[in-house]
Amino acid sequence: MTPRLRSLTAVGVLLVLAIVARVVLLGNGGSRVQECSGLTMGTTYTVQFAAAQLEGYQIRDTVQALLDAVDHLMSTYDSTSELSRFNRHAATTPFPIARQTLDVFTVARTVSERSGGAFDVTVAPLVNAWGFGPAGRPPAAPSEVELADLVHRVGYQLLTIDSEQGTLVKANPEIVADLSAIAKGYAVDQVAAALESLGIASFLVEVGGELKARGRKSDGTAWSVGIELPDSDVRTAYRAVPLTDMAIATSGDYRNFYEADGVRYAHIIDPRTHRPARHAGASVSVLHSEAVVADAWATALSVLGPEEGFALAEQERLAALFLIRSGDGFETRETSLFRQLVRSSASR
Ligand code: AMP
Ligand code: MG
Repeated sequence: MTPRLRSLTAVGVLLVLAIVARVVLLGNGGSRVQECSGLTMGTTYTVQFAAAQLEGYQIRDTVQALLDAVDHLMSTYDSTSELSRFNRHAATTPFPIARQTLDVFTVARTVSERSGGAFDVTVAPLVNAWGFGPAGRPPAAPSEVELADLVHRVGYQLLTIDSEQGTLVKANPEIVADLSAIAKGYAVDQVAAALESLGIASFLVEVGGELKARGRKSDGTAWSVGIELPDSDVRTAYRAVPLTDMAIATSGDYRNFYEADGVRYAHIIDPRTHRPARHAGASVSVLHSEAVVADAWATALSVLGPEEGFALAEQERLAALFLIRSGDGFETRETSLFRQLVRSSASR
């Protein structure tokens, strides 16, 4: 890598860091909380844990390798990743795919079906056209004609998952996928499982703002995370949420966006309109036992917004918190399961 490229990459990493952290870690101090952190998946990760016999540096290599492996399977920014190879496979013949990637596509499929297609990993050509993919910002917003030209390549039904054969099949050779809305959540689950297999019973894992907590801290209190105020200028915890044996993922329009000709374009694309979602919703946080599911649903509900999304979240019995722009500030809407889970997490 040339020095110029290296410094550009460093700037890129910093920009990505500035963009992605949406749930902030609160001071989870207390006795013997160990920590390790690093860079992966174009973002940062942090693992905090309470274990008498282990120090942070002793698990760092394991965690880093695990996260880098997920990135090397599912990143659209790494041209050698499995997903990038799948995207270049311009054919309708079956493409053999790793079990982990297949599992992520399977969760994505379920959330696509249950959200009426609001969540759709085949939205990748639209993500790129609007300037939120690896190629970066376009000189101008895509025209109706350009968008109409991409539409036949978007639709989760155009991908068939063959679990038995371990393959993915494209109905149209031009289908490409983007797992950015779900891969970080999956990575969080993977790290959590690795920590459990090391016998660590109390931890908080965070990758790019998606989190999972297990057990309680050594002082008996719950791990606590802060839901960030959806403001692109400042980074403040809007509200603390206690987290016990649960994951939380947040999706929002307030960090990764740009403005052109007075219009604000954010990175959540509505597959129904082929455009960035436009509504008063600023962020959605979802609690679930699995971070991969929370991550996918947070994006799906962000597409649908505070009206339709909230109604679906209640109907699907999801634990979701919506932060909605209102005047100069924000108002919140919590589903009944969100309220219930937060209450029981705090009192357990
Ligand atoms: P998240 O921050 O988890 O909500 O993921 C946002 C990212 O997911 C975007 O930057 C896109 O790469 C991708 N994306 C955008 N819209 C959708 C959608 N409707 N379904 C699935 N992925 C999407
Ligand atoms: Mg997501």
